[in-house]
Amino acid sequence: MPEAPDLYVIREYLEPRLVGRSITNAAERKPLVLRNMTGEKFTDDIVGRSISAINRKGKLLLLRLDDQRCLVISPMLTGGLRYCSPSDRMEATTILTFDLDDGHQLRYFDQRRMGQVYYLHPDHLGEIVRLENQGPDVLDEPLELEEFKLALKPFRGEVKGILTRGQAVSGIGNAYADEILFEAGLFPFRKKSKLTSTELSRLHSAVYSVPREAVTVLQEKVGDSIHKKVRNFLKVHRNGGKPCPRCGTRISAIKANRRETNFCRTCQPGTMFD
Ligand SMILES: [Zn+2]
Repeated sequence: MPEAPDLYVIREYLEPRLVGRSITNAAERKPLVLRNMTGEKFTDDIVGRSISAINRKGKLLLLRLDDQRCLVISPMLTGGLRYCSPSDRMEATTILTFDLDDGHQLRYFDQRRMGQVYYLHPDHLGEIVRLENQGPDVLDEPLELEEFKLALKPFRGEVKGILTRGQAVSGIGNAYADEILFEAGLFPFRKKSKLTSTELSRLHSAVYSVPREAVTVLQEKVGDSIHKKVRNFLKVHRNGGKPCPRCGTRISAIKANRRETNFCRTCQPGTMFD
């Protein structure tokens, strides 16, 4: 899933390439992903519009088009963007294509069609719950420790779930939640209510440092391959069975809540009953 650091770098790459370009043709190759909220025929309505801005909020990208239109892209687990030539091989997972007036093409692909692309008038942005119902972005100016504690306050349950839900802080998914908890030395299934003040402070510092450091690495590694998820520099996520980079213990992999969680039992001690 693209998370805040991935989308930060994708946005940065696309901005100079998309802003000012106009859309000369668009196609919806597969149904179920596009949510057209305009009442107009999508492929007719979008042609001729130009892209005036590209923004990011948490795990979503927002393209502003001229004359009162927006595209909101929520890639969820398996979606992504490709910037290429229209003659490049069309992958079977391609859902939407947009031809640009400089001869490039922007494609939205999604293996499992779990993501959504909304096409709408900006007045209706408030209807996209996933966009509105987000906490302050993890890559924005960090909250102070006390503000961070307040932001966490309404949420109960396991600390990893609170991080990925996006309401206390937005932009963190499964991968960066694992990395943040490793950095903070916290057991991922630890109940938030049980965190000591020192642990909260370690969590606060990791929540902001880990995604920022990731942006710096991704800016080096992603290049033109914005369609590829670069994750090979992560310390624990997807590294189950490999030695912990800090202590050498084998990294654990637990499947819970339909996703895998990776952590080090030595560096992040705890049990399900804590
Ligand atoms: Zn360790």
